[in-house]
Amino acid sequence: MTSPRATDRPRRRRAARLAIGTLVAAATAVVALPAVPAQAAASKVVYLTFDDGPSPRYTPQVLSVLSQFGVRATFFEIGQNVAANPAVTRRVHEQGHSVQNHSWSHPDLRSLSKSAFDSQVTATDARIRAQTGTTPRCLRPPYGGVNAAVRSGAARLGKSVQMWSVDPQDWARPGRTAIERRVLDRVAPGSVVLLHDGGGDRSQTVAALPGILRTLKARGYSFALLPCR
Ligand SMILES: [Zn+2]
Repeated sequence: MTSPRATDRPRRRRAARLAIGTLVAAATAVVALPAVPAQAAASKVVYLTFDDGPSPRYTPQVLSVLSQFGVRATFFEIGQNVAANPAVTRRVHEQGHSVQNHSWSHPDLRSLSKSAFDSQVTATDARIRAQTGTTPRCLRPPYGGVNAAVRSGAARLGKSVQMWSVDPQDWARPGRTAIERRVLDRVAPGSVVLLHDGGGDRSQTVAALPGILRTLKARGYSFALLPCR
């Protein structure tokens, strides 16, 4: 992973070379430098996201661990799961987490007609709104399936498309330690971590969570909700 310190070094060397060239260019480069490490330090934040819930079994377990560590996360929920477990969605919201849109039945949105796309999104909005009182502003397309039609469809419905940057493939159940190690090896300031609280047996994800949170906190990270409000 690229640390802010590591990226700063070549910039400083470049600036030094510039100083030999033109004085004006060198002065500009040097003035711009201090902002780089300062910004990186200020953004030592991680965005945890949980997809495919709500699950009556695993979502409460995830909520319990998050509460234990005082961490908030963003949940991209499937509309038909919200319809089946509305009280779980309500609980996610009441505990201060963000509930966002992951479609109604988890299709690849790229393959849908405009009207089918709209109903996947708006039916899910309605179910979430009934439990949380707020309309999701973010859409995460199933499978990360994005093209120009999905992007323009999302924009037409007032949604921003939210992907991820760290994917430990927890859905494939590689084991608690693999999930934990993959996240911890890849996280950097501003990372969006993809995990799953629904769609199957998520006991490994639940088991990996305390170690992930403990270590990231020890590294000085804080946790924030994605800007979906
Ligand atoms: Zn999904």
